[in-house]
Amino acid sequence: MLVDYHTHNQLCKHADGALEEYVQHAIQLGLNEIGLADHTPMPNDWDIEVRMYEEQFWTDYKPTVLALQEKYKNQITVKFAVEGDFFPGTEKWVEEFNGKNEFDYVIGSVHYLGEWGFDNPLYVGKFDHVDIDELYISYYDHIKRSAQSGLFDIVGHCDLVKKFGHRPKKNIEEILRATFEVVKESGMAVEINTSGLRKPVKEVYPSEQILKIVSEFGIPLTLGSDAHTPTDVGRDFDVARELVEKYGNGKISLFSKRVRSEVKI
Ligand SMILES: [Zn+2]
Ligand SMILES: [Zn+2]
Repeated sequence: MLVDYHTHNQLCKHADGALEEYVQHAIQLGLNEIGLADHTPMPNDWDIEVRMYEEQFWTDYKPTVLALQEKYKNQITVKFAVEGDFFPGTEKWVEEFNGKNEFDYVIGSVHYLGEWGFDNPLYVGKFDHVDIDELYISYYDHIKRSAQSGLFDIVGHCDLVKKFGHRPKKNIEEILRATFEVVKESGMAVEINTSGLRKPVKEVYPSEQILKIVSEFGIPLTLGSDAHTPTDVGRDFDVARELVEKYGNGKISLFSKRVRSEVKI
């Protein structure tokens, strides 16, 4: 059983290819399921440069995903999902947005600290002007609060802050333990996201240090390529598969209408 639960498409303006091309690539690879999980709109179409307009969600994204589910149902299971943002102050909006949709799952990601989109290559210069230890503390505080919010099913790329290779000087083991204890209580899964291998850090999200903690707490795993181009669907899943064997008893989680089940990879 192999699935890719984290894919984007051209609607977010920083990915290539139409939704259907991602589905077709997944079929070529022989995946059992593909999750279409593009970046959600934000309230008042905030940060529109890197996401679809809310209008497009209703008139394009949602109907297209549902049509693809139907069109390819004999070849692959297509999941209707989104990657949401944990951005303090928007919780009510996200809750209402999720409530208006029958998503199979919602990935919860931290892409902003304050208004800084810290994973956006355009703003990487800011790393030179912040204390990296403090940044990690703030990042994990956001991850913890995203889990406590109850809005999401899967923690997206849960050490994204390392994307450009910045590492804390301080030992953050205790901070990680406290964070993933809360994730465990939330019932969320953690994704193994292979896109880190294609970024300056050249490492899967999350690190093996985190995966050890995740495994100790018995937190379930999902798989995602975070593809922003159709040919990245399923990319480096041989690496991910080994990590699932090592840290997840060889099991991954599937989601259907926001209900989780587990299967052998
Ligand atoms: Zn993206
Ligand atoms: Zn993301």
